[in-house]
Amino acid sequence: MKAAVLTGTHQLEVVRDWPEPAAGPKDVVVALEGLGVCGSDLSLYDGHRELPSTPWVVGHEAFGRIVTVGAEVTNREAGQRVVIEPNYSCLECANCKRGLTSACTDRAIVGMNTPGILAERFAAPAEYTHVVPEELAVEDLACFEPFTVARTAVKRSAITKGERALVLGGGAQGLLVSQSLLALGVEPVVIEPHPGRLRRIVELGAATTDDDKDFLWLFETTGVAPALAAGLGRLAAGATITMVGLTPAPLPITMEQVVRGQYTVRGSLIYDHPADFQAALGDVVADRVRPSVAITDTFAFDDAADAFAGARERAGKTWIAG
Ligand SMILES: [Zn+2]
Ligand SMILES: [Zn+2]
Repeated sequence: MKAAVLTGTHQLEVVRDWPEPAAGPKDVVVALEGLGVCGSDLSLYDGHRELPSTPWVVGHEAFGRIVTVGAEVTNREAGQRVVIEPNYSCLECANCKRGLTSACTDRAIVGMNTPGILAERFAAPAEYTHVVPEELAVEDLACFEPFTVARTAVKRSAITKGERALVLGGGAQGLLVSQSLLALGVEPVVIEPHPGRLRRIVELGAATTDDDKDFLWLFETTGVAPALAAGLGRLAAGATITMVGLTPAPLPITMEQVVRGQYTVRGSLIYDHPADFQAALGDVVADRVRPSVAITDTFAFDDAADAFAGARERAGKTWIAG
């Protein structure tokens, strides 16, 4: 069967002789229907993260149709369309036991420390597949996982209807955070240097500003330390800073700024199983949010190399139709 494999930096190839997935008794085998290309996939592609082994199957933001179910699976059946929750937590460690599965100490991260799923068929634990209604648009499913990341950050911030929030970054994550805020009745005000990205996000309902200040809520989605520094100058005392972007760089903020500003600083990593995926699905089914607004470019599976090659420069998200 077909699979998209990385063999080195900027070397992605669609092979046709990849072995069929080996599924365990608690797994389902899914025929891929689509997959979103994400920044973390690109960090492997660009060589910023080491490949765990080569050739390495990439990709994690996928949906498809169940073709077979394992012997112990009783609540899934062949033919169902599912989105994949691509972080398989152990559900047994101390963090999992208190509900913070996103901080699982033994988490299998699809495409990162366990093989990816940009393949014609792949196995996944049934527990981490979510059945979706047939009427949902495939483009919404291709963006479902990053939408869940964004929605969960907004939920964890505890922001409520009627507020305004400063959003740093208008890439896919900034856009999906903005959509989540709009769905909640919050006005997102976005800072984004890329003119194409800024135009898109404003068209989708966000505001933009050069000089507004006194924000009580800030969402950092860029993972670029200087971007956060620019946002800090616009906060009111008592503000809540929620960080989604990742960088090993030190924070451009002093203890004194946090204390004098009386800020709440919180990190938000992915989502917790299974409630956050289910809540996100509820929003999409009720048509409160269209995650597909993040998409600008569609590629066929056979053109996966082209999909990856230009992904960083595109104004929006790239997805591959399986
Ligand atoms: Zn992702
Ligand atoms: Zn765990």
